Amino acid sequence: MNDPTGHAPGGGRPITRYDLDRRELAELLEGQPGYRLDQLWQGLYRDLADPERITTLPAELRQNLAEILPAALSLDTRSVGDDGQTIKWLWKLAGGALVETVLMHYEERSTVCVSTQVGCAMGCGFCATGQMGFDRHLSTGEIVEQVVRAQLDAGERRVSNVVFMGMGEPLANYDRTWAAVERIHGDLGLSARHLTISTVGLVPGIRRLAEETLPVNLAVSLHAADDELRDELVPINRRWPLAELALACSEHISRTGRRLSFEWALIHDTNDRPIDAERLAAYARPLGAHINLIPLNPTPGWPTRGSTPDRVRAFADELRALGSNVTVRRTRGTEIDAACGQLRADRVASPVAAPVRRTAPA
Ligand code: SAH
Ligand code: SF4
Repeated sequence: MNDPTGHAPGGGRPITRYDLDRRELAELLEGQPGYRLDQLWQGLYRDLADPERITTLPAELRQNLAEILPAALSLDTRSVGDDGQTIKWLWKLAGGALVETVLMHYEERSTVCVSTQVGCAMGCGFCATGQMGFDRHLSTGEIVEQVVRAQLDAGERRVSNVVFMGMGEPLANYDRTWAAVERIHGDLGLSARHLTISTVGLVPGIRRLAEETLPVNLAVSLHAADDELRDELVPINRRWPLAELALACSEHISRTGRRLSFEWALIHDTNDRPIDAERLAAYARPLGAHINLIPLNPTPGWPTRGSTPDRVRAFADELRALGSNVTVRRTRGTEIDAACGQLRADRVASPVAAPVRRTAPA
């Protein structure tokens, strides 16, 4: 077998079992009969097995592979909410960093929300991940293995959808995220139309996505449709303001034919006024974007609360009256701090054993 250390994901960390694509697995097996590649690939991507358990391979090879291809994620904590329908994992990575994954079962599908970075550098003040600051990028193997572990947990239920909406900004870790998309599609066999990348609006990344041959869904976390407010809520808007963002989104739609959606976390008396609905509707209309509303979830570092249920309903009605396509997203996993924007991966902020509701600081 070849020494695969040339493929190390950076930072001196070891490669892990889902870091290598089929060609690289073939290189690893050089000197072995050709069919061993199929057996290894089947074991990893069809049976989701540990290399030592791929019994079609000879014992010695299995042993070697187990050493060369370690798992990326080791379980720290698994928590369950929504009567068993939402599962959150806190994983420990090589080097000790912690990261979270959330699996949500619905009647008609199961969706896993994966992280792409430890922390995030984008600095959105209302987001618990942003409040942590940036630690490091995840490798492709660390991203793909989150889907594998979720599927292993789901058993008979098939994990059909992946949203890149966990910790981190996927387009700030473009190459590794895209390699993960290709592996999730090509090797794990999920349909591209069931994969959604969520971005805060990194225009060059959206443009690159538009050029990819595999069309995935794009979700843009908008939260404000005027530059003054968006500059405040989403600091990266100062670099790529709304007009530029709209151009990149329009390019993505025309190249990929995929649906665009805007995420809008409703913040009390901040972006939930009738004028905000008007601006949002006007911004979304030419792009034919779908609007997902979600009341802001509480995080320790942000004082303003989410909009009241009445205001959420009224805001959705205002948008509909203006001709927008709107969904009010049901919040999942609040009691295990697994809801949007609540992922921060430290044990202090994620009281798993005895969930307690935090109150916002004054
Ligand atoms: N960085 C990417 C993906 C991860 S954030 C992005 O920003 O799109 C996932 C989603 O959670 C984004 O839509 C983000 O705006 C939203 N979010 C962040 N903090 C939130 C909060 N406190 N309440 C509700 N949604 C939040
Ligand atoms: Fe990063 Fe997204 Fe959180 Fe903003 S909302 S800080 S981009 S993870």
